[in-house]
Amino acid sequence: MSTLRFYAIKETFNRKPIAIEENVRRSELFGKNVFNENTMRQYLTKDAYKSVMDAIENGTKIDRAIADQIASAMKDWSLSKGATHYTHWFQPLTGATAEKHDAFFEPIGNGNAIEKFGGGQLVQQEPDASSFPNGGIRNTFEARGYTAWDPTSPAFIFGTTLCIPTVFVSYTGEALDYKTPLLRALQAVDKAATAVAKYFDKNVTKVNATLGWEQEYFLIDTALAKSRPDIMLTGRTLLGHSPAKGQQLDDHYFGSIPTRALNYMRDLETECMLLGIPVKTRHNEVAPNQFELAPIFEEANLAVDHNSLIMDVMQKVADRHHFKVLMHEKPFAGVNGSGKHNNWSLATNTGVNLLSPGKTPMHNLEFLTFFVNTIKAVYENEELLRATIASASNDHRLGANEAPPAIISVFIGSQLSAVLDALENVTKGKISPKEMTDLKLNVVGKIPEILLDNTDRNRTSPFAFTGNKFEFRAVGSTANCANPMTVLNTIVAKQLQEFKTEVDSLIKDKKMKKDDAIFNVLREYIKASKNIMFEGDGYGDAWEKEAKKRGLSNNKTTPVALKAKVSKDTLALFDEMGVMNKVEAEARYEIEVEEYAMRIQIEGRVLGDIARNHVIPTAIRYQNILIENVKGLKEVFGKDFKKLAKEQIEIVEAISGHIEKMNKGVTAMVNERKKANKMDDVEKRAATYCDKVKPYFDEIRYHCDKLEMLVDDELWPLTKYRELLFTR
Ligand code: ADP
Ligand code: MG
Repeated sequence: MSTLRFYAIKETFNRKPIAIEENVRRSELFGKNVFNENTMRQYLTKDAYKSVMDAIENGTKIDRAIADQIASAMKDWSLSKGATHYTHWFQPLTGATAEKHDAFFEPIGNGNAIEKFGGGQLVQQEPDASSFPNGGIRNTFEARGYTAWDPTSPAFIFGTTLCIPTVFVSYTGEALDYKTPLLRALQAVDKAATAVAKYFDKNVTKVNATLGWEQEYFLIDTALAKSRPDIMLTGRTLLGHSPAKGQQLDDHYFGSIPTRALNYMRDLETECMLLGIPVKTRHNEVAPNQFELAPIFEEANLAVDHNSLIMDVMQKVADRHHFKVLMHEKPFAGVNGSGKHNNWSLATNTGVNLLSPGKTPMHNLEFLTFFVNTIKAVYENEELLRATIASASNDHRLGANEAPPAIISVFIGSQLSAVLDALENVTKGKISPKEMTDLKLNVVGKIPEILLDNTDRNRTSPFAFTGNKFEFRAVGSTANCANPMTVLNTIVAKQLQEFKTEVDSLIKDKKMKKDDAIFNVLREYIKASKNIMFEGDGYGDAWEKEAKKRGLSNNKTTPVALKAKVSKDTLALFDEMGVMNKVEAEARYEIEVEEYAMRIQIEGRVLGDIARNHVIPTAIRYQNILIENVKGLKEVFGKDFKKLAKEQIEIVEAISGHIEKMNKGVTAMVNERKKANKMDDVEKRAATYCDKVKPYFDEIRYHCDKLEMLVDDELWPLTKYRELLFTR
C-alpha cells in the first residue's frame, strides 16, 4: 500500500479523519462533494436529469414528482458520503451565509427510524429566520421568509451536511437576500446581451456573465489575535504603533510563502477541490502576513456562491492551523489593506468571450460593441457603482494610498484608447464603402488578439480593462460580490437594451446597413463617455481636481455614497430591469445605512474600552514606577537628584499629557455617541457617527500609540504590530 496521508479535514467536522493517498491528484478530488452534472448523471433518472439541466440552462420549472426523485437521489448520494443533515444555504443581508440544519433522520414509530428527504424539503423551507435584517419588509408574524432551491448553483456537502443553495424571499415575494436580485440581474443581462450578440452570430441563444474574484486576506496567529479585543470584536486593530519595519522593503510581496501559511493554503485548497471551487492561484501580498487566493472564473452566480462559501471555509480551515483570517479591508494602519478584485466579462453559449478581441474584423466589431457599451454603462452609473462598494470597512481603503480612489473611472490602455480615438472620426450617417473597408481593415481589424500583455496595467484604476475582461478593483475584501455584480450586470443590461433600440431604429428608419448603424451608435457613445476614461495616476490630487471638473462623483464616506442606491434614477432603473422594486431597494439601503452606524458604534465602544481600561491604567502604572525612581534618586543623591531625574520627569509629564488628551477624547466621543444614539432617523444617525464620532478615533489612537512608545514593553497590555505582523 502506498503511503497514506491523513488530512485533518474531517476532524473539525467531527468525523474520523479520512485517508487520502498522498499522490492523489487534485483533479480527482475536484467536485467530489458536489451534486454536479457528473453526480446527477449517476444518480438521477434520465427525465430528472433533463429537467434539472433545463432548469439550469433555461430557467424552466421542475415539477413536483421530479423534485421528489431529485431529492431522493440527493439523499442517497449524501448518505453515501456520510452526511447526516441537510440545510438550505442562503445569503441574508448580513453579508455572511446562513444555514439551519435538519437531520435526515425521522422516527417511524415502534422505536424505528429512517432517513427521509423529499421534494418538499428540497424545494422550499421556512427557516423562521425572523432576526435577519429585512429593512422593515417583513412584519414578523404576517410575512415570514422562506428559502427556495436555486438549481443553478449545485448542492454540496460540507462536513456532514448537505447544503442546498437557495434564495431567501418573503411571502409577499420581496427578496430578503443577495442572491435573488443577482439572479434577476443576470437574467436581464442575458436577455439584453443575447439580443445584441445576435447581430454578430445568429446561433447565440444565451449569454452568461462571468466572474473571477481575487480574495486578499491576512493570517494572524490565533493566540495573538485573541489577545486583542479590537481584532476579536471589530476585525481590525483600532490602535497600535507601526513597527520599525513594515512593508517598505517589499520583501513579502510575491516572496516565498511562509511554511505555516503554505500548509494552511494546501489544506484549504483540498477543501476547495472537494467543494468544486476551482482555486488556482496563491501568493503573498504586499503587507507582511497578507496573502491572496484566486480561482478560475465561473458563471457569476456560482462564483458569488463560491466566494461566500470560501470565506466561511477559510476560517474553518484556519482554526485547524491556529490562525485567524482577517478579511477586513484595513486591519492594520500603515500597511496595505485588502480588496477583492472582481474580474468580469460576458460569455456566449457558443463559447465566445464578448470582451476578448479576436482574429476577424467582424469579431472585433462585436468586441468593441460590448466594450464601448460597458464603458458607457459605467459612465452613466458611476455613482451607483461607487455605492455598491461602500461599507464602513472599505472606507478605510478607498482613497487611501494603496487602493483606488472613491472616484470611479475606467482605464483601457493606450492601444484601445487609440482605437476609440479613430472611431470617434467615423463619418456621421451612412458610411462610404471605402471608409467601411478602411475601418474594418485598419481600425477594427488591427486590434491585436492578445491585448493582455499590452494593456499597461494601471494599478491605480478602480475599473480597468485587462485584455479580455474588466477588473472592478474597488470591491472590498469583506464584500459579498453579489452587491457589485448585481449592479454591474443591471447597468450593462440596460445599456445594451438601449443600444439595440438605437441600432434597430437606424436600420429601420434610416435604412442603414447593420454595420453602418453600429459604427454610428458606437461613435456617439465614445464621445458621450469620454469623461469616465482616465489613464493617469488615480492616487494623485490632480485627478481629484480633474474628476471634479468632469462632473464625476467623489463620495468619500459610506453614508454619502449609499444615497445613490435610492436615487430616483436608480429606483427607476432597478424597477425597469426587473431587479428590485422600490420596497426592496429602499429596504436594502436602510439596512446598509444602519449597519454602517452600528459598526462605527461598536468600534467606538471597543476603542473607548481599550483606551480607558487597558491603556490608561498601564500608563499610570509605568508613571508610578518612574515616580518611585525619581523619589529614590532624591533620597540617595539629595540636592543633585534634579539633574539625574530630568529625563524621567519629562517622561512622567509626557505620559500625563497623553493620558489627559486621550481621556478627554474618549469623553467627547462618548458624548457624540450618545447624541447619535438618540436620533431616530437612521440616515442622520449614520451621518453623525461618520462626521462626529469617527473623527475622535484618530485622536484617541494618536495618544495611545505615543504611549506605546513611552511605556515599558513588559507592561504594555496589547500585542504589538510587530508581533501580529511578523509572527509566522
Ligand atoms: P491578474 O489579474 O492577477 O494578472 P489574471 O488576469 O490571470 O490575473 O486573472 C485574474 C482573475 O480573472 C482570475 O480569477 C481569472 O480566472 C479571471 N478571469 C480571466 N478571464 C476572465 C473572464 N473572461 N471573465 C471573468 N473573469 C476572468
Ligand atoms: Mg487581477
